Amino acid sequence: MARKFFVGGNFKMNGTLSSLKGIVNTLNEAKLTSETDIVIAPPSLYLIPLKEQLRKDIAVAAQNAYLASSGAYTGEISATQLHDVGIPWVIIGHSERRALFFEADDVVAKKTKAALDAGLSVILCIGETLQEREDDKTIEVVERQLTAVKKELKDWSKVVIAYEPVWAIGTGKVATPAQAQEVHHKIRAWAQKSISQDVAENTRVIYGGSVTAANSRELATQPDIDGFLVGGASLKPEFVDIINAKV
Ligand code: PEP
Repeated sequence: MARKFFVGGNFKMNGTLSSLKGIVNTLNEAKLTSETDIVIAPPSLYLIPLKEQLRKDIAVAAQNAYLASSGAYTGEISATQLHDVGIPWVIIGHSERRALFFEADDVVAKKTKAALDAGLSVILCIGETLQEREDDKTIEVVERQLTAVKKELKDWSKVVIAYEPVWAIGTGKVATPAQAQEVHHKIRAWAQKSISQDVAENTRVIYGGSVTAANSRELATQPDIDGFLVGGASLKPEFVDIINAKV
């Protein structure tokens, strides 16, 4: 089974109801390939109004969900609650959550399990810092992050792995196609060795980090790059070209 190309837009904590409705309008009117699964992740406050306005061939994702299903966790939203209101996807383990909100590997793993148990699909983010890359620890780090999740999961069929080198996120420094391909290939090799041939072949591994319309086409030609998670450029009209990068 061929892996379907996947493009996610992570709006982060950007926009207003009016500006994000403008982005949704642009997407609604755009000619988008049906060969790509498309998901947008607005701030949680805007998930429902934007979902109502959004064309039905684009899905929505939350940017985070807590690991318990309910309880005394002021300020948090659970995967169960997201599922309850019809949100099908969630991003877990984004590097900003790991760095700014101190989400350790085991927390990311528990959140991933909780989201899948609640019936959501997960965009699971992993990736090394610049220091870790310079210390030649990239593969060690991504394998450590994946191994923590593996301990919690039996079924990977609703997981998309987003390889996002931290040094490339929001910096304008995109990984070269060869750099990204090398890590994606090693992630697949890890999945084959540590989980199964089926998971290795069928799990989508997407790249994130300063993807733009200009660099997306070449990245998309790499055999192990199955799509993108896009931050800054997902707020701009060029997001349409990134979605269509494989066409
Ligand atoms: C991201 O936030 O997941 C991301 C990849 O951001 P950017 O595209 O802006 O680097």
